[in-house]
Amino acid sequence: IDTLREYEWNPAMYNLGEHLDQLLNNKELPLSKRLEPIAAKLKHIPQYYATGLANLKKPTKEHTELAIQQVKGSLAVFQMIEDSLKKAVSVSPDVAEEIRNGLKECRGEVNHYIKQLETVVLPKAKTEGRSFRLGKELHAQKFAYDIVSDYTAEGIYQEALKHKAYLHGEMLKLTDQLWSKYMGNKPKPEGLKAVKELITKISEKHVKRDEFVSAIKAQIPELTRFVEEKKLLYLDPKKPLVVRETPLYMRGVAGASISSPGPYEKNGNTYYNVTPLDDMTPEQAESYLREYNHYILQILNIHEAIPGHYAQLVYSNQSPSLIKSIFGNGAMIEGWAVYTERMMLEEGYGNHEPEMWLMYYKWNLRATLNTILDYSVHAGNLSETDALRMLMEEGFQEEAEAKGKWRRATLTQVQLCSYFTGFKEIYNLREELKKKGNFNLKNFHETFLSYGSSPVKYIRLLMTKQ
Ligand code: ZN
Ligand code: ZN
Repeated sequence: IDTLREYEWNPAMYNLGEHLDQLLNNKELPLSKRLEPIAAKLKHIPQYYATGLANLKKPTKEHTELAIQQVKGSLAVFQMIEDSLKKAVSVSPDVAEEIRNGLKECRGEVNHYIKQLETVVLPKAKTEGRSFRLGKELHAQKFAYDIVSDYTAEGIYQEALKHKAYLHGEMLKLTDQLWSKYMGNKPKPEGLKAVKELITKISEKHVKRDEFVSAIKAQIPELTRFVEEKKLLYLDPKKPLVVRETPLYMRGVAGASISSPGPYEKNGNTYYNVTPLDDMTPEQAESYLREYNHYILQILNIHEAIPGHYAQLVYSNQSPSLIKSIFGNGAMIEGWAVYTERMMLEEGYGNHEPEMWLMYYKWNLRATLNTILDYSVHAGNLSETDALRMLMEEGFQEEAEAKGKWRRATLTQVQLCSYFTGFKEIYNLREELKKKGNFNLKNFHETFLSYGSSPVKYIRLLMTKQ
């Protein structure tokens, strides 16, 4: 807090939209019970934004633009609160009046915050603002605290470069093997160009747009069956996974995500939120379906659901430690999901089809390049042009995806390293334990997950001590 000082340069930190939204949409409580804490919170909101404005010393242009967009978006939540008053029959007239007055004052203050950002902060940020790049030293420190790994930021960057070369090597071999099956007599271009062309061709195999959610629903029992048949991990049948269409208030960020019950609602459902493609143009839907084609969609389900995030979070919630449940280690959580993708394929999910492996390598490249990108942007000086070239030519990404990733790399720091770092550490640990003999995969997975969402380096310590 006192070294990074994000509160001085990130105006997007000051946004209560999500907090209010969570209070308003907590379906565990009747509406009147949800409105009471909202009424209490509204009283402090004007002071909150005024303090935010006073805290800003040297904001970046990028975070200021983000703040303007997101804080404007949060005004919709005030409207939702106002609308809900009409439905809350059991709210006392006094509380309702208090909320209405509070909302009026808050809207005024939030609009003032936006106006200040637009007219004072942004012009200043453009000329004398802080760079969005963290710099090598701060990045190294943030990496150490966020990721909590035996790797340094620079060390994992070097590993990611090696892994990228390995993935390209495997993809080139598979392209040689598959080229004529898909391309007939068409001459094969040199190097990675051929890989890209082949991936584009194989991506044509995908579900229809109106079957996207139902296709995911149908895959969950298949994944469960595979995990059980191969004895990979115990899955608690009392904690079912509910596939649902993403609620409207959550849409717009990720196409698929997991909402898991927290430590205070252990018996709540786990939801697999899948956004239907209703709002997309035919072209957008086609591009999205090619990205989440027949093969990648299955890998996505492994990652998000079984045995990825959903399974891990069920185990994590059994941990008696509230600290570990609430402050879970992101690299362990993402690393586990990325690890299970490879583990499932190694165990024969997808029948060792070369197409499945080729697509898996493309998917795994994404996590690998996330690390390279984050490090090169914040500890180095990678330009947008070079970043897009890397993501599209070496990562085989569509332009829209690459541009979105660049934006994310400018607005976040270190988080993009979590996927590959966690994956690498878990994979290393497994291989290390295998060499010791007496290795059982199911036992390894269950023991590994039993420590809760802890940093892999500490799980490793506990699993390797004699
Ligand atoms: Zn198509
Ligand atoms: Zn994930």
